[in-house]
Amino acid sequence: MIAMNKFRIGILGATGVVGQRFIQLLEDHPQFEITALAASDRSQGKSFAEACTWRLPGDMPERLKQIIVQRPAPPLDCDLVFSSLPGDIARESEEEFARAGYPVISNSSPHRMGVDVPLLIPEVNADHVALIDVQRKNRGFGRGFIVTNPNCSAIVIVMALAPLHAEFGVSSCVVTTMQALSGAGYPGVASLDATDNVIPFIGGEEEKIEAETLKLLGRFQNDVIAEPDMTVSAQCNRVNVSDGHMASIRVKLERAASIDDIRAALASFTSEPQHLKLHSAPERPIIVRSENDRPQPRLDRDSGGGMSVTVGRLTPDNVLDYRFVALGHNTIRGAAGAAILNAELLAARGYLRR
Ligand code: NAP
Repeated sequence: MIAMNKFRIGILGATGVVGQRFIQLLEDHPQFEITALAASDRSQGKSFAEACTWRLPGDMPERLKQIIVQRPAPPLDCDLVFSSLPGDIARESEEEFARAGYPVISNSSPHRMGVDVPLLIPEVNADHVALIDVQRKNRGFGRGFIVTNPNCSAIVIVMALAPLHAEFGVSSCVVTTMQALSGAGYPGVASLDATDNVIPFIGGEEEKIEAETLKLLGRFQNDVIAEPDMTVSAQCNRVNVSDGHMASIRVKLERAASIDDIRAALASFTSEPQHLKLHSAPERPIIVRSENDRPQPRLDRDSGGGMSVTVGRLTPDNVLDYRFVALGHNTIRGAAGAAILNAELLAARGYLRR
């Protein structure tokens, strides 16, 4: 039985790496309950138990086993959808759901840079939700809309940059990522490519980080996002780690700041999700560690239930002003957890209806 006071959720791409994370994180969620699951034609018409090989610790939730997997197209028996479809499928499917009146909370990339689509990190740019009204007007949507969360590395990087940009102004940022295998979905990178190896290429990733960072840190004014005057340069590597994206970040600041100022800005950072006490909001969005060998994926990716970003190795830099290393869980803060936090913010702001 579905609790009357909960929003009914459909998951698009439910059988995938991110889809399974959605399912895990939504079990026992106080506001959301899964009522529909969709995936490719390989899975459609099968029960979820038949269609999905469960790859997270623990078991597939019993209640979902008998749900029949459907096509990712409206109508679905739900109030809103979370989407983790592959990019090429997501563009059309998400637009179709929004047009049919469903809020679409997406983690896929095709709509992220749309001028009327919020690219949201609730701690960083909660005011960008106002783009929903612009989008509805532009596209003739009724109750539906599309809201996206960023690329899984961009979110980790921008969480760390946001408090520094707010206090000192970041004028340049150079980033090198070391990204986990689960970021490529399942089965992802072939084991013979991944083992004993680092692959210095992830298609489209560098461009996404460079573009999304500017949109995320932009100001919402006169119905558009005005990007900051900042240069961002990214290089991305796939490394032999299961979960957890790491980024080495160097920044140049507009205003002078001591290393203690930087550490305090990062460690004391809290924002609207913490003030609103949203269910998935970590108490501390950024955890600053002082040990000289942290953060590490295995030790730090689950901090704050996978929703905190851990920063360490903070030190002055000889070329730019400061450098540090940031780490976050790519399928939680970088994907499913990010989308769920977005939905919690939208619920608090009255954008969701049962
Ligand atoms: P994945 O493990 O490959 O899962 C893909 C999902 O989409 C599966 O449920 C699959 O269903 C479904 N699907 C595939 N082709 C389809 C089609 N033609 N029509 C309908 N459904 C189809 O991928 P993932 O890692 O979960 O990533 C999903 C999306 O999230 C991608 O856009 C990715 O860029 C984004 N993302 C991923 C991460 C991450 O860390 N993995 C982070 C942020 C964003 P079947 O099982 O039936 O094939």
